[in-house]
Amino acid sequence: MSHEGIRLVSAEEARRAPETELPREMVTPAKVRVQQSTGEGLEIEWKDGHRSRWSFVWLRDACPCATCHEEREAQGRKPGEGKVKPASLLPMYQAPARPESASPVGNYAISFKWNDGHASGIYSWDYLRRHCVCEECVRDSR
Ligand SMILES: [Zn+2]
Ligand SMILES: [Zn+2]
Repeated sequence: MSHEGIRLVSAEEARRAPETELPREMVTPAKVRVQQSTGEGLEIEWKDGHRSRWSFVWLRDACPCATCHEEREAQGRKPGEGKVKPASLLPMYQAPARPESASPVGNYAISFKWNDGHASGIYSWDYLRRHCVCEECVRDSR
């Protein structure tokens, strides 16, 4: 009997993410759309023709700043994975994450000022491409 199907990736394994350099066309956006008015998310069309789309909620939970990164590590969450709220508590209403503004950082990243006031995350193109959540990439990363 095989248990492979239910094997959970340990935090150790998650940290061992391959840090091989990606080809330049893969991490260079051809078009970047911040769908701020509709609140939908961020869409990037890459030079290699791939398209990525993330919801703002996902991006907020994937904030790459040191504080958010450490908090995720401590809780064993992957980038984009929401905080687990104790089931015993009634859910408190919290406005869904949405950027008040988005600005380019050099030519290698984008940063958001979130509606909860947080603004220290710098989302590099490399980071975003590595965390593409399209069906194809999600399947490949499993
Ligand atoms: Zn952060
Ligand atoms: Zn993808």
